[in-house]
Amino acid sequence: MSILNNEQHEKFRQKVRAFAEKEIKPIAAQLDENETFSEELARKMGEYGLYGIDLAKEYGGQGLDTLSYIIAVEELARVDSSQAATMCAHNSLGVAPIYNFGTEEQKSKLLPDLLSGKKLWAFGLTEENAGSDAKGVLTTAEKKDGCWIINGTKRYITNGSNPMLAGLTVLALTGEENGKQNYSTILVERNSAGFSTKRMLGKMMWRASDTAEIKLKNVEIPQENLLGIEGRGLAQMLKTLDSGRLSIAAMGLGLAQGAYEMALDYAQKRKQFGKAIASFQSTSFKLAQMVMKLELARNTLYKACLLKDAGEPFGKEAAMAKLYGSTIAKEIADEALQIFSGAGLFKNQAIERFYRDQRILQIGEGTSEILHIVIAKHLGLE
Ligand SMILES: Cc1cc2nc3c(=O)[nH]c(=O)nc-3n(C[C@H](O)[C@H](O)[C@H](O)COP(=O)(O)OP(=O)(O)OC[C@H]3O[C@@H](n4cnc5c(N)ncnc54)[C@H](O)[C@@H]3O)c2cc1C
Repeated sequence: MSILNNEQHEKFRQKVRAFAEKEIKPIAAQLDENETFSEELARKMGEYGLYGIDLAKEYGGQGLDTLSYIIAVEELARVDSSQAATMCAHNSLGVAPIYNFGTEEQKSKLLPDLLSGKKLWAFGLTEENAGSDAKGVLTTAEKKDGCWIINGTKRYITNGSNPMLAGLTVLALTGEENGKQNYSTILVERNSAGFSTKRMLGKMMWRASDTAEIKLKNVEIPQENLLGIEGRGLAQMLKTLDSGRLSIAAMGLGLAQGAYEMALDYAQKRKQFGKAIASFQSTSFKLAQMVMKLELARNTLYKACLLKDAGEPFGKEAAMAKLYGSTIAKEIADEALQIFSGAGLFKNQAIERFYRDQRILQIGEGTSEILHIVIAKHLGLE
């Protein structure tokens, strides 16, 4: 507990930790090795109340605050990043835009199944031409006879191909206004004709998370599936990413916490020159550095969560928390592996997986370079 979180948060942390230790930890290595997406775990996470933690109870959420959600992400990532990715992508990218920008009808139709763990929803921004530059989107949605006709291909879509996927929010070009391109977000259901999806296999990290390419070929979607305001899709997606960055920051923090705990345990047990390697100052200083970085990352992230819940601007703090959380995840995983040395390079030690899993955190939902740009813009600089 700290001055930023309270007893309820810690009770909730213990509850999620118990779930992660019991349900995820024992099978994480095998799922990673076989590149298996576990529907069973994805469903169990929903049944355990890990979807919609910070959303209103009337839609099937838990009615808790942002910090509770972030603590849950931290606890999953402390044992396995793939499952944390499934949970974060569904909550922060899949459900959140529907919750924040959807009509009552859209929310009451989609949210009950998405929050109970029956179905998953994905976020479709990235394309071949649109990575860091969201304006590079080439997917089009044209109005015809009361429908949107959508054409395009989305890639790297988390949760995008497994049988639990009910659909995704697609960012598409919807014409021009005053010489400027208009982007809108549209809810596209998986069972629509012309929708096809293929899992993208062979990732170095998050191997048990489902990453997919989704093709939309003349997909006909009713006009009422527009999410939010026509022409405001880009702003809505970028707003979604502000919150999404909090969860990536939490994934970095949780992964780093898990790596630190493993390294501490190993350093106390492994003996060389007749002593535990933890007794060498070069090892204990590494561990001291890790604890300091964890503290700083946690404080930065929790402050951003408190700002969000207080209705204050938090975009700069979320960007800093994501940039810093992903940076220390890399540093701590690397130093932890150094403490394990030879033993850490083999798959029977979880640190090997943690070392691979941290790499995406400096790339997804804004690369580290783009986050520097975001922070600089908050300072009034370009
Ligand atoms: C496993 C995984 C899951 C993902 N899940 C999703 C998802 O669910 N939904 C979704 O829509 N997307 C998803 N993504 C996409 C992810 O958000 C993008 O990969 C990320 O935004 C970076 O885009 P890019 O990979 O195309 O890199 P690029 O944009 O091609 O960047 C390449 C390099 O150029 C640098 N660069 C680019 N522009 C600038 C600039 N202006 N200034 C300085 N440097 C710059 C970058 O920092 C980077 O180092 C996922 C990606 C992965 C790998």
